[in-house]
Amino acid sequence: MIYDIIDAAPEAIVVHCSDPRFQRAFAEFIHNELKLQDGSYIPLVISGGVGSLAEPLKLPKEFRFMKERLRMFLERFESIHRLILINHEDCRHYEWLQSYIGKLFLQRFQNLTERQQADLKKAAQGILTLTSLKLDVELYYARFADARKSQVVFEQVG
Ligand SMILES: [Zn+2]
Repeated sequence: MIYDIIDAAPEAIVVHCSDPRFQRAFAEFIHNELKLQDGSYIPLVISGGVGSLAEPLKLPKEFRFMKERLRMFLERFESIHRLILINHEDCRHYEWLQSYIGKLFLQRFQNLTERQQADLKKAAQGILTLTSLKLDVELYYARFADARKSQVVFEQVG
């Protein structure tokens, strides 16, 4: 078998979690609602999504890894003008972060969802400082739509 490579000038970076349960929903959301086709965006898929940017002091290596990758993409592709960050409910990586960091992790928050939504905003602000490109920021939280946890809706975080 041989496979085609796309000549890409991506318009967006999309950061989301690698949780296998959510991959199809993420892909369909990105294609159908965000109107981004394969090759028109750079997927940065990593457990916890922007969670890796959330604790620069406690997890400096994760923070630096994410920051440098984002900076590289933004330097390499001047075609990028959208930054899309997605967190999701029931994120195992966020549960790990919470147990690793301890009770300070939710110090100023009611629950994990609130923390995850705040992290989206904080990460976006941080990423904007990495580049002189003008980026439209879109933040989403994927929340279960049914009691069986078999479907999600993507709520915009503003
Ligand atoms: Zn996750």
